[in-house]
Amino acid sequence: MNDLPVPLPRTLNVEPTVGGGFVFYEFTEAKENRSLSFEFTEDKQTNKETCGPEELGVVGHTVTPADMECTKEIDHQQTMKALAQQAGNDTCADCGAAETTWASYTLGVFICRNCSGIHQNLYEHSQVKCLEDPWEAAEVQFMEKHGNEVAKSKYAVHVPIYYYQPTHRDCQVLREEWIRAKYERKEFTKPDKLKLCINGVREGTLWKRGRDNKQFLIRKFVLSEREGTLKYFKTQEGKEPKCVIKVDSINASFQPSKIGNPNGLQITHRKDSKTRNIFLYHEDGEEIVNWFNAIRMAQFNYFKVAFPTAVDKEIVNRMTQNFLKEGYMEKTGPKQTEGFRKRWFTLDHRRLMYFKNPMDAFPKGEVFLGSTSHGYDVKKGLPEGTLGNFTWRHGITIVTPERNYLLTCETDKEQQTWVQALTEVLGKPMTPQDCAAEAHFRHRS
Ligand SMILES: [Zn+2]
Repeated sequence: MNDLPVPLPRTLNVEPTVGGGFVFYEFTEAKENRSLSFEFTEDKQTNKETCGPEELGVVGHTVTPADMECTKEIDHQQTMKALAQQAGNDTCADCGAAETTWASYTLGVFICRNCSGIHQNLYEHSQVKCLEDPWEAAEVQFMEKHGNEVAKSKYAVHVPIYYYQPTHRDCQVLREEWIRAKYERKEFTKPDKLKLCINGVREGTLWKRGRDNKQFLIRKFVLSEREGTLKYFKTQEGKEPKCVIKVDSINASFQPSKIGNPNGLQITHRKDSKTRNIFLYHEDGEEIVNWFNAIRMAQFNYFKVAFPTAVDKEIVNRMTQNFLKEGYMEKTGPKQTEGFRKRWFTLDHRRLMYFKNPMDAFPKGEVFLGSTSHGYDVKKGLPEGTLGNFTWRHGITIVTPERNYLLTCETDKEQQTWVQALTEVLGKPMTPQDCAAEAHFRHRS
């Protein structure tokens, strides 16, 4: 009784290739006079692959079933790697990172290492393996049949235009909830499966940081699509809102490190032409990400009515955006002889705001940034003979039609990234809305 198929006698020839670190194995199936070729890379994790042919003892030797298994496994790995390089599979199915070193063999997607960590918490829906792991023939076949494009047409076919699809630069909660929404809750497999509002209203509680006492307290929030407002109330039963925020004036961005909570959300809005920040979080990642997307939905619908001729892409550009850059710089006053003071700067669209502290409710000042064709400019360094006691040595001069702003950065890398971010803003042509905002700033100052 022997269940194993009797191996045919085979001859194995071994030839190391020139360069590239590959060893080339070839053997002939004696009976059928057929030849097969394999390539082995030399820097693999398992012993089978790292040992050379001499160590395997296979030179001029009959190939055993075990040797065949080994070559098959390596064959599968090579197929997986080739698949991961195909268009569509070469960027992460979940965050778009240009690195697909992992795959989910139950969903059929190629993903990055970062996203694979999130998939590992979704064991019921997704089972992942590194491309370097051993792959079974059936798994490879499944991946061949599926892949990122096929998975997209299944799991992400009805993603609403306003729904924020995170990139590899976004924070954990945004990436994790996007992955859970797609594969665990399957919110985009049918139209209208995702419910962010009921009858145009979203109501719930969020932790909000107090402006003065800096303590996070529970507040009731109500988002009304019809009114285009986000309100919050001091108490659950409260009739009079503490604040009414117009959705078209909102920018919302996740700020986990600044807020000190993985689900921390900053809402920047304008009221009576003053910019105001509020800082929120919810313990539940799904809840906070849904609030964020509900605000985007309300914004989208508001702009759709306000600008009926605008195309969807233009509208999306007006919605919430990650801040272009934030960080400390030193700044002098309008006379440019005052002492330089350390301030927290936030670049939000065309607004450069500065605060005494990163979590202040109100900025100490704001600079509107137009475009180079409208007389704005940014340069490295300070004008010659700049007075004032600045401790940081890496200067930046922002030129506006009204005045120059003199700033200094702590390191040349900071100077470099600020100049780059500001130059990018100034390089963009101004839209009619930008011109209106500029006029408003001039009128105010
Ligand atoms: Zn990814």
